Amino acid sequence: MTRRIYNFSAGPAILPESVLEEARDNLLSFQDTGIGICEHSHRGAAFTGVRDDTEAMCRELASIPDNYHVLFLQGGASTQFFQIPMNFLSTESTADYVVTGSWSKKAVTEARRFGSVHQAASGEETGFTQIPSDIRNSDNPVYVHFTSNNTIYGTQFRSEPPASDGNFLVCDASSDIFSRPLDVSKYGIIYGGAQKNLGPSGVTLVIIRDDLVERGSSELPTILQYRTHAASRSLYNTPPTFGIYLMGRVFRWLLDHGGLAAAAERNQQKAQRLYDYLDTSSLFNAMAARDSRSQMNVTFVTGDSDLDARFVKMAADHELSGLKGHRSAGGMRASLYNAFPIEGVDALIEVMKTFEAHT
Ligand SMILES: *Cc1c(COP(=O)(O)O)cnc(C)c1O
Repeated sequence: MTRRIYNFSAGPAILPESVLEEARDNLLSFQDTGIGICEHSHRGAAFTGVRDDTEAMCRELASIPDNYHVLFLQGGASTQFFQIPMNFLSTESTADYVVTGSWSKKAVTEARRFGSVHQAASGEETGFTQIPSDIRNSDNPVYVHFTSNNTIYGTQFRSEPPASDGNFLVCDASSDIFSRPLDVSKYGIIYGGAQKNLGPSGVTLVIIRDDLVERGSSELPTILQYRTHAASRSLYNTPPTFGIYLMGRVFRWLLDHGGLAAAAERNQQKAQRLYDYLDTSSLFNAMAARDSRSQMNVTFVTGDSDLDARFVKMAADHELSGLKGHRSAGGMRASLYNAFPIEGVDALIEVMKTFEAHT
């Protein structure tokens, strides 16, 4: 047996063990072809089959309507920060951004290169510990962009911010995509790097409505136009074949385990157990405001950074890895993505109790 420990890393993050075991076998020979999954041509039948299955499972999982494209791109979510405004924003137009953390701020920085940005709300004044309730869009934005889960601060939207006729909703869902059911038809574009909930780093899932594929700029370099990838079924150039394969296996795993509704229930249970403990602890405190708490990234502090560091060290000694908070937020962060088992939450709470008893 290979030794595995509880991995609370924010990303790249834990993947289902059964998926990794299957991938290990397929690395040497994919489905008895005698050629490993990373060694198959992206134009060959073996890989194009994988690609098509991955898209089909993605559509099934999220009930993606027919008028949306599912794209497998590269460059991470960070590339979408500029690719989206580059395609849809101009110096004569405005896009609205709901600023709820470092990732939204980075998205704003890139959008400003292409047109006007209106901050529809910002949580900066409260240190990004709360999702703003008062969201005010500009008069005629091209789109409204938000970050559904704020990986660093541990906050999450409960429902979508308002968009209206004539504009479309864009969501950076990197750290909570497919952790709960979602109504894709409310969105123009949903994107996420795979490395938190969906697979390995190196592939970005982009779900984009047909009319937007048509509408995007046709002046851009070929590879930066969405139509290029839509027309070529994400096979314009060599795609991240292993990432697409593994993402497909994660989709299969999710489907076999009850789909997104069941995933949401498991995620809710895991996060609730940890928040319940935090709410009774006299040492540890949850960082996010109650109404904004993330089910994916639970952030907490003791209030003393030396104690925090000692706790992280003790947890590591108990084979609980990746609990140190992001450098811009401090404290601790337990990332409880889809593949994270509830036993790991119990193990964490046990170590927290022991630490608390000895402090
Ligand atoms: C991790 C993360 C990103 C950055 O993703 P890359 O794939 O590394 O570019 C962007 N947004 C959110 C919300 C994230 O959690």
